[in-house]
Amino acid sequence: MSQLQDNFGRRFHYLRMSVTDVCNFKCTYCLPDGYRPDGKPKFLDLNEIENLVGAFAEVGTQKIRITGGEPTLRKDFSDIIRIVADNDKISTIATTTNGYRLAKHAQEWYDAGLRRINVSVDSLDPRMFYQITGENKFDDVMRGVDAALEAGFERVKINAVLLKGLNDKDLPRFLHWIKQTPIDLRFIELMETGLGRDYFKAHHLAGADIKSQLIQDGWQLDQSAVDDGPAQNFSHGDFQGRIGLIMPYEKNFCANCNRLRVSAKGKLHLCLFTEHGVDLRDLLQSHSQRTELIERLHGQLQAKKETHYLHDGVTGVTQHLASIGG
Ligand code: SAM
Ligand code: SF4
Repeated sequence: MSQLQDNFGRRFHYLRMSVTDVCNFKCTYCLPDGYRPDGKPKFLDLNEIENLVGAFAEVGTQKIRITGGEPTLRKDFSDIIRIVADNDKISTIATTTNGYRLAKHAQEWYDAGLRRINVSVDSLDPRMFYQITGENKFDDVMRGVDAALEAGFERVKINAVLLKGLNDKDLPRFLHWIKQTPIDLRFIELMETGLGRDYFKAHHLAGADIKSQLIQDGWQLDQSAVDDGPAQNFSHGDFQGRIGLIMPYEKNFCANCNRLRVSAKGKLHLCLFTEHGVDLRDLLQSHSQRTELIERLHGQLQAKKETHYLHDGVTGVTQHLASIGG
């Protein structure tokens, strides 16, 4: 089967697969009022996930990130990992988590086949962490990070959303941490969603400011690897950890887009923003529907736009990133 490609020559070998919209945190930039169920949502089951993974693998997907909501709240999370890990065309299997269940389950997930993990830690100050996430769980999450390092994950990354007036004084603490700890920090610029124009205006902090500071302090921009995605990564001889900056408002951010998203209800999203998503669920019921599913994927790729329109204040229908998994 031919690989997924759009009209701008971009190939898509990375799938971000959401498995639930549910979350137990209330991050102020994402779900400030916590998760509110819309009716009785039915998220993709294991059979649907297996069919989805199988089809994407056949058209060139090599990396799958399991995301949410909070993906680890699914009772069958380890089974989901195993489904992805059992597909020998998928070489990289990752997840993004708030770390709430990590301390207890890191080893179990590793044994199921998970190899990379991103943990969201927006502040290293427990009080600020509480203020941003709505949960007083800093110590538990940090115990989870330690457990992930011990379990032997290939990569442990920490995601922190840059927030003016909240965690913008935290850089020295983060730097101190990664001096001796082999962790990849990812600073993510706040993206405006349908929920929060006022919030965005109050808290958006440009990653470019951090970039200048890092360069001034002797950090060097690394060559990017094929599956690195849009992050600009920096390293420094005196530090064991690395720093990545994700700046969706930078020019050319979309030029190397290599990712597609499927929501927990089985909708294909060609971009995090600007469109509604195309239902795949009717074709996820049986292995025998694979050819038809792949045809739909190829057809949809022709509609992928060259870029997002965030600069114009277009946030599309994405109310919050918990619904697509970031
Ligand atoms: N619950 C998991 C977590 O928080 O890691 C996975 C889902 S969460 C939607 C995925 C990532 O998106 C997290 O690192 C989160 O910080 C980030 N995120 C959520 N809303 C965002 C926004 N408006 N701008 C930038 N990043 C955002
Ligand atoms: Fe939940 Fe993650 Fe959104 Fe925070 S960022 S509310 S942990 S889905």
